[in-house]
Amino acid sequence: ALAAESFCDVVRDHARVQGDVIAFTYVGEEISFAELDEGANRAANGLAALGVKPGERVAFLGKNHPLYFEAFLGAARIGAVMTPVNWRLAAPEVAYILDNCQARVVFIGEGFAEVLSGIRADCPLVEQVIGIDATDFTGTDYRIWRDGFSATPPAHRVRAEDDALQLYTSGTTGKPKGAVMTHGSILSSRDATASGEEMRGWQEPIPGDVTLLAMPCFHISGTGTGIGTMVAGTNSIVLPEYDPTKALDLIANFNISKIFLVPAAIQILLNHPRVSETDFSRLKYITYGASPIPLELMREAMRVIGCGFVQMYGMTETSGTIVALDPEDHVPEGSPRMRSVGKPLAGVELKIIDEAGNPVPVGTVGEIATRSSKNMRGYWNNPDATASTIDAEGWLRTGDAGYLDEDGYLYIHDRVKDMIISGGENVYPAEVENALYSHPKVADVAVIGVPDPKWGEAVKACVVVKPGETLTEAELIAHARTLIAGYKCPKTVDFIPALPRNPSGKILRRELRAPYWVGRDRAVN
Ligand code: ATP
Ligand code: MG
Repeated sequence: ALAAESFCDVVRDHARVQGDVIAFTYVGEEISFAELDEGANRAANGLAALGVKPGERVAFLGKNHPLYFEAFLGAARIGAVMTPVNWRLAAPEVAYILDNCQARVVFIGEGFAEVLSGIRADCPLVEQVIGIDATDFTGTDYRIWRDGFSATPPAHRVRAEDDALQLYTSGTTGKPKGAVMTHGSILSSRDATASGEEMRGWQEPIPGDVTLLAMPCFHISGTGTGIGTMVAGTNSIVLPEYDPTKALDLIANFNISKIFLVPAAIQILLNHPRVSETDFSRLKYITYGASPIPLELMREAMRVIGCGFVQMYGMTETSGTIVALDPEDHVPEGSPRMRSVGKPLAGVELKIIDEAGNPVPVGTVGEIATRSSKNMRGYWNNPDATASTIDAEGWLRTGDAGYLDEDGYLYIHDRVKDMIISGGENVYPAEVENALYSHPKVADVAVIGVPDPKWGEAVKACVVVKPGETLTEAELIAHARTLIAGYKCPKTVDFIPALPRNPSGKILRRELRAPYWVGRDRAVN
């Protein structure tokens, strides 16, 4: 058989071979692979009738919904490119992305009709809006619309090198950038295995697996999970948005075998009053990543939930995970491996480079660079950003600082841009945060560099204290001194009610830094 070039081909095969198997489950509704395949063909023919051409972007603004994946598949079948938009953004930010991707057709989910009508004037290219189960929208309804078109597969052939998905980065360090992934890059974990490289135990798709899709589809974690289960031919139970009560209920009662959660979502789950009475025995793996996880939180999760844990490191620009820490390497007591994000997946190359781009020795911190078929093609309409991110040999600079040990395990030390240089010493916020987080009265913490006349930058901690507790600056600094070198300890502490985070739970350090750097020049802010 010919190797599949796209998830479009894979889903078509599933529809033929196991058409009755459920692909997506959503609030009591089940969509089989046969139905998904047929709906996608109708949507593809519908989009073609609207004049959508290969290479054209179509957008989706809404909470998670299985019909988003159907529309994505439909668009992909005529060579169009799905762009899911972060629905948590403010209206002008949504307008920026819709305008930037130049979509003429926009799918919207429940609750977004008003947002969209408010920005139509700023998005003159948008011609057609289609509501997916959107009761607040009076225009075209997706199900009625697509059923008006033929279920015959469109004649268009997609190739591995064609654009498939445009996802905007989380905007943790600046304005979101449109990362363009090809059909090949989003299918590439299969390529690596096809070429004979080994798949890790937890990667093997098992028939009958049920995945809980709880993270947002505007992030690679959500869309990547859905693509992964479509390709594996297994069922995803889709939550419109993360809800710990529903997640616990589904884990206990619906045979959930896998979930991806960001660390902030694991924390919310562990704080839920019903967690202690939940039966986790059928849950095989929780995969987690997208931001650093405090060691204490990981220990608690292992104790309370007790399933296999797999840490993932990756980014939008690498179509998601490129490095993973296997369950066997999760040894909470005394193992340095627990601080690692693991080893590269099959087919993924890593190197650590200095500012000039030259490789540094094992154990030395530098910028992480990666090369694999999972790398994006580039940033949409942004040749300068693309050129400064991917070099001529295909190496992509991640913007993350880290090092490799002798066994090839990767350790992450934060964003290069978040590194604090204090008195000539490099301080990585995550290490300091880990030390402070181990104080029993600390609920949440972020560490930033603030201007200092003597040290250049001084380490400052922004701390949220647990409800009902009191904590002083001196007490916290004294605690840090028992755990980390003096120059890494905070010089000052701000006690604040909550940390600014983006929807993936990432701390927005640039927002915390901003008031301290007004009118001053930090290389990056
Ligand atoms: P922007 O690029 O717009 O600033 P972002 O980098 O947060 O936003 P994403 O592509 O969603 O957008 O996130 C990728 C980044 O998340 C990585 O570069 C890394 O800094 C961080 N990250 C991912 N996985 C992990 C992990 N397991 N541990 C620590 N950090 C991680
Ligand atoms: Mg990034």
